[in-house]
Amino acid sequence: MYITENCLVELIASCLEIPHKEVGGFLIGKEEKRFIKGERTDCLTLDIAYQIRTCKSGKSFWQPENVRAYNRIIDTIKAMNFAIVGEYHSHIHNVAELSDADKNFIEQEVDDFSKHGIKVSNWIEMVLNIETKNYSRKQAQAFTCKYFRKKIRCNVRGMRDPLVGYSITIGIYWFNPEKAMFEEVSVRGP
Ligand SMILES: [Zn+2]
Repeated sequence: MYITENCLVELIASCLEIPHKEVGGFLIGKEEKRFIKGERTDCLTLDIAYQIRTCKSGKSFWQPENVRAYNRIIDTIKAMNFAIVGEYHSHIHNVAELSDADKNFIEQEVDDFSKHGIKVSNWIEMVLNIETKNYSRKQAQAFTCKYFRKKIRCNVRGMRDPLVGYSITIGIYWFNPEKAMFEEVSVRGP
């Protein structure tokens, strides 16, 4: 799984627009070959993160609230010949893991897709956990990414307040609808 620079900008800005509330949207991408650690590898590239506007959200929940608007987004992206490969949503001071409620929601959602005649053979769900960081010394504006075995952690600091920043940990999970199984996958980025 590879996140392009553009997609990463969209994800981080989307999460930090209202950092105390969960947000979410669709991930648009494609399968391709990419050089990762010097090897040509089959890869799912995430190009676009589209934030869904018509949704209900709070400190610990997020869900689309207008089914017709939600379907209009799907139809529009399909008509433009792009593929929705999954979804992202943020967590606030939590973990970058899927909750039981998340898993139930995804299973339901993918089921609804198939009722609409959209075949989903694999679905990815990205979770971005946001932690506020307070510094004792003034920080210059900076953005850094650190890669772990599977997850990425991004740090943004000194945006408005030189003593405040955010740490955003990204985890990505494959959902296999046939087996009803979730598996964490490794994420790489720019
Ligand atoms: Zn969640």
